[in-house]
Amino acid sequence: MGVRVICNPNYAAHVPPHEVDNGAVVPPWEVPGRFDAVRAALAAHGGFAFEDAPALSVDVLTGLHDAGYVAHLRDTSAALAGGGGWVMPSVFPFAPGEPRGEAARRGAYCFDTFTAITAGTWAAALGGAAATYRAAELVAAGETRVAYALTRPPGHHAERGRCGGYSFLNNAALAADLLLDLGPVAVLDIDVHHGNGTQHLFYDSPDVLTVSVHGDPAGLFPYFSGFADETGTGRGLGFNLNLPLPPGTGVDGYRPAVAAALERVGRHRPAAVVVAFGADAHEADPIGGMRLPTAYFAELGAAVRALGVPAVVTQEGGYDLATVGACAAAFLAALGDEVSRGAAVPP
Ligand SMILES: [Zn+2]
Repeated sequence: MGVRVICNPNYAAHVPPHEVDNGAVVPPWEVPGRFDAVRAALAAHGGFAFEDAPALSVDVLTGLHDAGYVAHLRDTSAALAGGGGWVMPSVFPFAPGEPRGEAARRGAYCFDTFTAITAGTWAAALGGAAATYRAAELVAAGETRVAYALTRPPGHHAERGRCGGYSFLNNAALAADLLLDLGPVAVLDIDVHHGNGTQHLFYDSPDVLTVSVHGDPAGLFPYFSGFADETGTGRGLGFNLNLPLPPGTGVDGYRPAVAAALERVGRHRPAAVVVAFGADAHEADPIGGMRLPTAYFAELGAAVRALGVPAVVTQEGGYDLATVGACAAAFLAALGDEVSRGAAVPP
């Protein structure tokens, strides 16, 4: 059985107008063409079965995301319907208390100026959650060993009650939550940016191990988390591992970090693994700053496959339209390869 690819049917609904980077208005990196590029590359590669995600009830999100935040996303998109407008924060919370009024909610429910809400944002974000939920359902039911949620916008930066980093709903966390029915779960985040939202959502949990290999946040988004001394809290102490790498890291630097990540994942003895997959550590990525060649993504896929556990993969970053698809295809083909699989797989 090849890799099941569950597509977000609403991926093109969210069209951000721009980003605000250090006060400058710049074109958005996170665009619908990213999805098209990945889908085309997977189709050209062969061995992938595509299906659209069925609709998802918003109730599924309530355990993961704050109800006020979810309502803000839904209602803001609804209020923008029919126009080309957007909502982006100008003022962030500097005093305690619940936000009172629309301008306060913009800042309270978002942590950066890269992540505009548009008329189609809610549909696109919910569609991504639907694709991820379906992928996790298929893996949990044993219907496939590897399922991939092909979606945009990404999810791994979204916290319980805040969007940011182009992310609105945390797809990787949603998958991990569902897969807990099988036993302990590990989330491996190999996007070049720290998976701060996923870490945040499971920081006190010993059941979901979160491991992230990423660019050092001292110089790379999201700046405020992703450091090596963040190891979890309470019962979750010891169940978060960050492996930050310096700018310009190539294969020689990634190999030992990924080996350490996988060693920690293996010790967790997960019943399933969620991979937050980004191609933005590729050498051609315009914002990642790393030096990985396309071929290394196949090595990554094979390394995850060697864990011998079922996997749900969520599409996160990757902003070079010419290579993001090839990276995803290389990773997923190697991860899904049944013939050369080494370790035992649960029945
Ligand atoms: Zn990223």
